[in-house]
Amino acid sequence: MPLNQQPERYHQRVCENGHQITPRIELTSDNSKFCEKCGASVIEQCRNCEALIPGAHPGVIEPLGSIPVPSYCNQCGKAYPWTSKKIEKIKNAVWNSRELKKRDKTQIKNALEQLNRGEITDEKQITIFTEFRKLAPKLWSIVQPIFSDILASVIKKEIGL
Ligand SMILES: [Zn+2]
Ligand SMILES: [Zn+2]
Repeated sequence: MPLNQQPERYHQRVCENGHQITPRIELTSDNSKFCEKCGASVIEQCRNCEALIPGAHPGVIEPLGSIPVPSYCNQCGKAYPWTSKKIEKIKNAVWNSRELKKRDKTQIKNALEQLNRGEITDEKQITIFTEFRKLAPKLWSIVQPIFSDILASVIKKEIGL
């Protein structure tokens, strides 16, 4: 590809479980439909708005495996399938918890569903997840690594992750 045709950003292909297939679609002829690691379908677009998944930055030398797989679409805010699966895991854990009252479970579940759809404000995430941490410390310690994976760094900082 001539230098003047270099894209601003390469795009990546990822399996539904979040395994990165290639961080630079534009530079590969590989067209795998399924993941070699787990057999899940491979996607290269947001299912909601069809935007391509941002990958490597051209002209930047990045060590192999260091290009992050994003959690949410940067065009519509919706969670990618691998993130939705993690959100679903937290939702199930919340639902089965004995530490939380029905009312709190419903509130956390609603917030997680909004997070999945990209329809929740930072403030609301901070309020509800801080409350979650306070009300159900045992469960929180179990789901903490998953939250750590899927929440934006500003929110993690606020809720002490
Ligand atoms: Zn996979
Ligand atoms: Zn999207």
